[in-house]
Amino acid sequence: MSTLPTVLITGASSGIGATYAQRFARRGHDLILVARDKARLEALATRLREESGVAVEVLPADLSKTSDLANVEKRLSSDARIGVLINNAGIGQSGGFADQNAESIEALIALNMTAVTRLAAAIAPRLAKAGEGAIVNIGSVVGLAPELNMTVYGATKAYVLFLSQGLQLELGPQGVYVQAVLPAATRTDIWKHSGIDVDTLPEVMEVDDLVDAALIGYDRREPITIPPLHVARRWDELDSARRLLLSDIRQAHPAERYQTAS
Ligand code: NAP
Repeated sequence: MSTLPTVLITGASSGIGATYAQRFARRGHDLILVARDKARLEALATRLREESGVAVEVLPADLSKTSDLANVEKRLSSDARIGVLINNAGIGQSGGFADQNAESIEALIALNMTAVTRLAAAIAPRLAKAGEGAIVNIGSVVGLAPELNMTVYGATKAYVLFLSQGLQLELGPQGVYVQAVLPAATRTDIWKHSGIDVDTLPEVMEVDDLVDAALIGYDRREPITIPPLHVARRWDELDSARRLLLSDIRQAHPAERYQTAS
């Protein structure tokens, strides 16, 4: 058993989650791998045990189902060895807003928002009490870009960013590191599941590059890591503009332009 904290990774059966699993195994962390596809998780676990000699447990769960989610929550809240949560499981969107139905909207929100929030909430009190640990939430640059016509997906990812920023303010002073990672198009199965051929996209990041960059941000304890953002100050400028806007919010009266109708 490793003396390093155990890392629980959701959506570990493929793509970004599976790559995080490999990287943390190489760093010597024991792992708990969560996703629905037990066979794929088992195959990855066997490979990582052999390659890195760490302990790897498989915890199959459909995180959009309340009972499975509760099972993972229970584990996060009670297992003191788990010091890092990689909140990665997520699904994309097929079609535009008019193509959505109640079922597809429910599924997106259940996994991309509800599960992410509840899993963070399950581990947060224990980490805050210990005064250490990390929660990594995988958002998306789509959450900054309503122009991309992935409205429900983008809204869930805007939520993940806000959630992460709020958690940074609440948990950071208690010693818990919270990172939001915002990938852009990355070569994983998510595109196939959304009915899009990844090779038709003008530019795609390889998943190894994405996760290695995200881990550089993690090691630097960056609050927001955007691997595809090439001009770092753009984020600071956006955040400064947001703060400036907040400084002009005065709640006692409507702004002058709303005081006369015309
Ligand atoms: P992926 O290869 O499709 O992986 C998604 C993972 O989530 C899989 O392990 C999948 O495993 C798991 N998952 C899906 N539904 C689940 C459920 N109901 N319960 C539990 N696990 C479930 O896609 P990815 O690109 O690596 O996505 C990982 C994260 O990155 C997502 O949050 C995604 O929104 C975000 N992201 C991806 C990109 C991109 O271009 N790839 C860009 C920005 C953000 P099972 O099928 O075995 O359950």
